[in-house]
Amino acid sequence: MGRPTEFKNETFIDFTKPENRAAQQKALDTVLASLGKEYPLYIGGKEMKAGATFASRNPANKEQIIGHFQKGTAELAIKALDEAWKAFESWKRVPAAERAEVAFRAADIMRRRRLEVNAWMILEAGKSWAEADGDTAEAIDFLDFYGLEMLRYAGPQPISPIPGEKNALVYIPLGVGVTIPPWNFPMAILTGMTSAAWIAGNAVVLKPASVTPMMGWLYTEIVREAGLPGGVMNFVTGPGGSVGNTLVEHPKTRFISFTGSKEVGLEINLKAAAHHPGQLWIKRVVAEMGGKDAIVVDREADLDKAVEGVALSAFGYQGQKCSACSRAIVDAEVYEQFVEKLVPRIAKITQGDPANPDNVMGPVIDQGAYEKILSYVDAGKKEGKLIFGGEGDSSKGYFIQPTVFKDIPPDGVLAQEEIFGPVLAVIKSKDWEDSLRIANNTEFGLTGAVYTQNPKKQEQALEEFHVGNLYINRKCTGAMVGGHPFGGFNMSGTDSKAGGRDYLLLFLQAKATSVKVA
Ligand code: NDP
Repeated sequence: MGRPTEFKNETFIDFTKPENRAAQQKALDTVLASLGKEYPLYIGGKEMKAGATFASRNPANKEQIIGHFQKGTAELAIKALDEAWKAFESWKRVPAAERAEVAFRAADIMRRRRLEVNAWMILEAGKSWAEADGDTAEAIDFLDFYGLEMLRYAGPQPISPIPGEKNALVYIPLGVGVTIPPWNFPMAILTGMTSAAWIAGNAVVLKPASVTPMMGWLYTEIVREAGLPGGVMNFVTGPGGSVGNTLVEHPKTRFISFTGSKEVGLEINLKAAAHHPGQLWIKRVVAEMGGKDAIVVDREADLDKAVEGVALSAFGYQGQKCSACSRAIVDAEVYEQFVEKLVPRIAKITQGDPANPDNVMGPVIDQGAYEKILSYVDAGKKEGKLIFGGEGDSSKGYFIQPTVFKDIPPDGVLAQEEIFGPVLAVIKSKDWEDSLRIANNTEFGLTGAVYTQNPKKQEQALEEFHVGNLYINRKCTGAMVGGHPFGGFNMSGTDSKAGGRDYLLLFLQAKATSVKVA
């Protein structure tokens, strides 16, 4: 496809078509035949080993090893920073249009390898076919979108003329940064965060989430093939607490782009604020964190559509999306009716190994998540009434049924804490005003949706529902690059609006120049 003239979202693959199903199955079979290999680090354009490895496993089949990855160390993390600074000296001089071309080539390579990326993701992250494909499509979108955005930022910037002076404002890169993505959109978020940094002219050290390192390796292969010079993107796998922390604290780190939990995000923000000897700058931190997202169901809602939106938002990818609906806030007048319609809808959800395309829901990511989610299920039994699911089975993989509690109090644990799993709290509100109050009553502010047919209420919600991404009469997941710039308020993070026009600016600094001509 090459250089796009304007941005267009990738279309999703329709897996109801037999030919698409057969092609994805073939890619899965090929990947299944290549499991268990060892993968290196990629530092300064060279593949390296760390001396010790860790295994990435299939959460649907914990005995199945996806691959062995290097257990990076603090020393290797620092080496990656050094190599990145070396590469930065030439990369920062590469014209923006050439950097964008690398991004467009990488998008094309990912298009070509799409089914293969999907297959690895189905096995490594436990995503259903459709969820994996949406993730890969979003990664391709990020590459094209930020490539085009770079061309815009590199163009002339408007400033007020001053007689006798030739003035300009140009955007230049920051230096060397670190990207620390989560596992839940293991290709999309990783690609978006990391590519934005180098497209803007920076060099970067990528430390992927330790449960989905294969996605980081595939990304590394793709940008190498696209012609990104060695050292501009360095891939260092290893524990967040050592490799990640070293990168965050190091005085040579200019910026940190993080997406993950509130706890880790706050810790990074605190550590990044410290000044270390030899550090020339205040580190810039972009931190996108958790959510406690709500769908408000008004008495004037189309209940069938609301039930569908809640079911999709709560249980897509097992509720492991920062945008997942974990609270359904339902007007007392339609509460029982909503619950009656919701239960049979949830009962239709098929669950099992996501390698089988008939399964809509797969496993949760690992043992730690499995135990944490089930502890919230126990808490829910004390706070409300279990009306669906509630059981786990970790004999082969980490499976937890789609679980619904009703009558959860708005201030309860299930209504306040991010669970990050397939657990939905249904909360009864007195009326419309009460619904909005409950919706805003959390420390987070990521996504939200409102189902109502009343235009006045829609307008009020648009103004008063305090979240970064608000939807009316549709689900609260599935933000599209370009159309729904993504990021949240309050404890959901710095509202960086990934996939929007402001995003690249986070990896740039503006230089104003003035030349006396009179
Ligand atoms: P974590 O915070 O556990 O981990 C995120 C990343 O941080 C991983 O790469 C992890 O490495 C690394 N890390 C962990 N500890 C440290 C440390 N001390 N210093 C530096 N890096 C560290 O989040 P999850 O991966 O579990 O992701 C789920 C979370 O992400 C949820 O809270 C979700 O809401 C949020 N999220 C937010 C989004 C948004 O746009 N707001 C989008 C997607 C997810 P390692 O894996 O090695 O521990």
